[in-house]
Formats: sequence, C-alpha cells, structure tokens
Amino acid sequence: MSDYRPEPDSPSMDAPAPAQSPTEAHPPLLGCLYCHTEGTITLNEGRKILGLGSGLPTLTCKNCGSVAVFDASARNGTWRIRYRRVNREPLYYYAMVYLGGTGWLDAEEAMEISRRAFVQRRRIQQVEAGYLNWLNPAPLDPPPPLMSPDEMVYVTIAPVTFQQTSRGGAVLSQEEENVLDSGHFFLTDKKVHLLGQRRDWSHKLQDIRDVTYTDRYWRIYVGSSNQYYQGVNQPDQIDAQLCAAIVRALMK
Ligand SMILES: [Zn+2]
Repeated sequence: MSDYRPEPDSPSMDAPAPAQSPTEAHPPLLGCLYCHTEGTITLNEGRKILGLGSGLPTLTCKNCGSVAVFDASARNGTWRIRYRRVNREPLYYYAMVYLGGTGWLDAEEAMEISRRAFVQRRRIQQVEAGYLNWLNPAPLDPPPPLMSPDEMVYVTIAPVTFQQTSRGGAVLSQEEENVLDSGHFFLTDKKVHLLGQRRDWSHKLQDIRDVTYTDRYWRIYVGSSNQYYQGVNQPDQIDAQLCAAIVRALMK
C-alpha cells in the first residue's frame, strides 16, 4: 500500500477535504477494490460540461480496467463509490455481481463486498485445485431416504428447485421452464439430492450433464431430458460460481 503516491502536480479535488488529503486517506485510491491489486489506481478529475455531469473524479484501475466514480465528500468524512465499467472475466465474478451491478455504495458496504470478493476468489482457486475440506464434509445421521449412510455431504442449500425445460405452444416455440419441485438440496461425494415438497429426487454425479451459472443462479443439468436443479445466487452463502465450481470438483 505504501507504493502509491498521487502525482505531485495533480489538481486537488473540488470536494471539501477532510483533515487529511483525500488522495492519501481513502482505501480505493491505494488498492483496487475490484481486483485487489495495489498501486494501479489513477484518479481522474471529473468534468462538468455546460453544467452537466457530476464533476466527481473517476478511479481507473490499470490492472483490471474497472472505472468507478468516486465521491470523497460523503457525510462524516467518509466516501462512496459507484462502478461504471467493470471487468467481466470469471476471475472477478463476485466483484462484478456485487460491486459492479449496484449503484452508489458507501465506504462500509464497498469495503465489505471487496473483502468478500477477495475471499471468494481464493475459495474458487482452492476448489479448482481440488481442496474442499473447508466445507467440512460429513455424513447425515440419519440420512434422508435416497442417501446412503456413507455419503459425505459437502453442501446444503435451500430452497432449490427441480425444473424442466420444454417447448412452449406451437405459435411461439419459446422455451418454458416448469418447476417440478422445490426443497432442500444436498451435494455429496456421490450424488445430488433434493428433498422436495412432492417427492425426493436424486441423481448420481456421473449423470450430471452440465453445470452452469449466471449472475442470478446456478444450474445442474441431469439425465437425458432437459431437467436441472437450480438455486439462486446468495452472496452471503455459497454463490452461484462457487456452487458450480464445487460440483465440478466433486465430479472429477
Ligand atoms: Zn483493479
């Protein structure tokens, strides 16, 4: 963090400065909240043209390319940030969804999301390297009906739906997503299970055809028909990217 110094001739910001110079004091200027590289942030003065525009400065990271509007004049001598352009590579998934997909974030929120994004990136790297012990896998006692007593449960998520895609009416041959069931989901070293409201569902890991994720949900496609398990993205639990990575790691 000590490497970064503002250019000596850079103009001072319009915002009323707190006791310290804002360019020295605020974390987003020292390290990138998005990719966590230090010393890669450039502060560009905001411009007001014909009275338009916020006049607020922008922060650009030369490592990940993210651009954020930065407001150092927020209440109580703190700051806020709003990402305008972000790097959408899978490496930055968590930051993309929770830093990039939002409006203004105050200092506390932005720092917390940034911290989580850092941890999540490490988790993904661990999982891709096959390290899953941090999930504390353990058998369920007693196991639910379709689970054998020696299956190790790695992940439990609720609610998860079991769905099927089918072609819609003849006129608009669009795909319809039908929810077949919903309930508690378990991912074990051998199978995926759903204790549904209607019945219990279970598929072997080797019967998984594909695992996908978006910024909103993860999906595990199973069997020969267009059936899949789906869970929503939960930032404070196992997010969609991490869930998909864990399934892939267990399938190996
Ligand atoms: Zn960056």
